[in-house]
Amino acid sequence: MIATESRETTGRKRLYESVLDTVGDTPCIRVNNLAPDHVKLYVKAEFFNPAASVKDRLAVSIIEEAERRGELKPGQTVVEATSGNTGIGLAMVCAAKGYPLVVTMADSFSIERRRLMRFLGAKVVLTPRAEKGFGMVQKAKELVEANGWFLARQFETDANALVHENTTAREIIGDFEGERLDYWVTGYGTGGTLTGVARVLRKERPDTKIILSEPANAQLIGSGVAQERDDQNAPAVSHSAFEPHPVQGWTPDFIPYVLQEALDNNNYDELIPVPGPEGIEWSNKLAQKEGILTGISGGATFSVALKVAEKAEPGSVILCMLPDTSERYLSSPLFEKIEPEMTEEEIALSKSTPGYQM
Ligand code: PMP
Repeated sequence: MIATESRETTGRKRLYESVLDTVGDTPCIRVNNLAPDHVKLYVKAEFFNPAASVKDRLAVSIIEEAERRGELKPGQTVVEATSGNTGIGLAMVCAAKGYPLVVTMADSFSIERRRLMRFLGAKVVLTPRAEKGFGMVQKAKELVEANGWFLARQFETDANALVHENTTAREIIGDFEGERLDYWVTGYGTGGTLTGVARVLRKERPDTKIILSEPANAQLIGSGVAQERDDQNAPAVSHSAFEPHPVQGWTPDFIPYVLQEALDNNNYDELIPVPGPEGIEWSNKLAQKEGILTGISGGATFSVALKVAEKAEPGSVILCMLPDTSERYLSSPLFEKIEPEMTEEEIALSKSTPGYQM
């Protein structure tokens, strides 16, 4: 689209009392260059949240529901096992509300995630990558038992799906009012996004097909093997279908309890596995062809949305979740092929004029 007028803005017509009030109300953005012509493809850009991921919603919900229920006392330490975005969201919320935070995290996750949490004032306790997600959860539990801290329990707490039911889903319903919405596409980490949004879509937009994805080499749901859980609904064992995959934030080594409700209620219509490398490929293409910065899970979800688009009837409208931003992956495989030094083309450009040469 060629611009014909200068851009203007008018402000949000409100003032914000806290950074926490800026969580949610993320925009659904049309994909113009990468989408096939016969559909309208939108992405819900969760990197517009204040700490730049979908997990800001969960973080504020866990803390405020616990406050409301009297489960979290002023100044009490919060602890959680997290691959990063939940930790960053919790660190943001705990900083704003004055709670100390301790995060346990496998040492395989990107360095900038740890540093961001520490930057926000949290303590990060690393666990060996060989112990997978299970190891970090165990360490969090041990710390809670030893110190009487508050465990956030993102994989089990009802505050997780609840916030997506009350915010993410309401935003989708509001933004697509009077519009078609044929497909909604998501992956899962805790399953909070799927479980919460599906509760509302099934009731209020029953014609919208819910498409779920998981990594092709870690098809926990696809395997049909049920998850064993302990008396607190936490996983009792690592799932047999799990393999390490590059889609950070997706599919831990167990089927989360939060996700189980959506599985039990058949709250998805199709399960489409996606190879992890496609997540990297499409994250980069979204950046280069659309100017949209999302992480590997966003790229993976988008790859699935394109597969859905190819088969969709003309005029279909598709919405794809983008959980976080590319900037969270600067030291990860997402940026592996992005050179820090000048390429031959850049050197040639440098040499093409006489001044300022390296
Ligand atoms: N992508 C990324 C990068 C995430 O951090 C998460 C949350 N772990 C998800 C996707 C999945 O969201 P949910 O936990 O709501 O299933």
